[in-house]
Amino acid sequence: MGPELHSPARYPQTMVRFTVLASGSKGNATVVTGGRTRILVDCGLSCRELFRRMKLAGEEPETLDAILISHEHSDHVGGVAVTARKLNIPVYFTEGTHRAWMRWLSPRRQMTYAQWLEQIRKQAAERQAEAVSEEGEPDESDLVLDSTPEPAESAEPAKLTESAPEKDPTWLPAVEYFAAGEAFEIGDIRISPFTTPHDAADPVGFVFDSEGVRMGFVTDLGYISPNVKAQLKDLNLLLLESNHDLEMLKDGPYPWAVKQRVMSRVGHLSNEAAAGFLEDDYDGQAAYVILAHLSESNNLPELARVTAERALNCRMRLLANLLLLAAQNEPLSSLYF
Ligand SMILES: [Zn+2]
Ligand SMILES: [Zn+2]
Repeated sequence: MGPELHSPARYPQTMVRFTVLASGSKGNATVVTGGRTRILVDCGLSCRELFRRMKLAGEEPETLDAILISHEHSDHVGGVAVTARKLNIPVYFTEGTHRAWMRWLSPRRQMTYAQWLEQIRKQAAERQAEAVSEEGEPDESDLVLDSTPEPAESAEPAKLTESAPEKDPTWLPAVEYFAAGEAFEIGDIRISPFTTPHDAADPVGFVFDSEGVRMGFVTDLGYISPNVKAQLKDLNLLLLESNHDLEMLKDGPYPWAVKQRVMSRVGHLSNEAAAGFLEDDYDGQAAYVILAHLSESNNLPELARVTAERALNCRMRLLANLLLLAAQNEPLSSLYF
């Protein structure tokens, strides 16, 4: 079985379905189905737990066509390598996210000191050689790609997918790159990725388009930037972060440095900020509004709901929007179009 698209007969071809399997800082995963294509958006659950939740939600793991990653934080990528290998499907990243993910997984800590020293020397020599040949970019020269210190081999990112999975934790059956601002297609689903303000290498949100249904998907953002605002229009479904209640966060258990990080322009979206968007900027077109990535320490589902409801109710015509909350511990029932 290769990474080509599945087309099981048991699913009707004109169907759009959206299934949140998990949402929050302990793991994120959502299945977006359009026509004959099924995409897993983020893979922050272990493969075993992911499959368990998919079955609970009536989704079949074997029918997934691809995995799409928003950014490299562990609650979004924790299970990606095992899952992609098990299903033999490609993983779509931005190049920046893929590199950051590889750096995160590179087995620096498993090396002996002698191996590490050897690697540092090798990299320094390569850097020097590069600097002589051209004024190259040194920013990625600290990329540690392989712990085995074979002096004849240079570490080329392109070779990664050819090495053996048991030796290389970053090995994937296939890696595809996309870029924010450049729409692309996976099977029957058109994907428009856009940049989000968050403290990751190259974080993105998505608009999915299939069978004339548009679904906006954005979590892990410090604030709603003009760019994000511009994307979240004419949607049939909106999944939006509602991470924390500002007062709960301020009075909560996190150390001050973490509180500042969460509240910052590259942290997470508060209930108040999500409500501000719903009240002032949202066009009210979506049949479903899903609040997502709720903090377990600094939020309460009812608080998030009431804050968003108040914002929506301020505008009578938005009463038709069905407000839902994505949970950390159980899947949300599939939404059909
Ligand atoms: Zn997250
Ligand atoms: Zn994040």
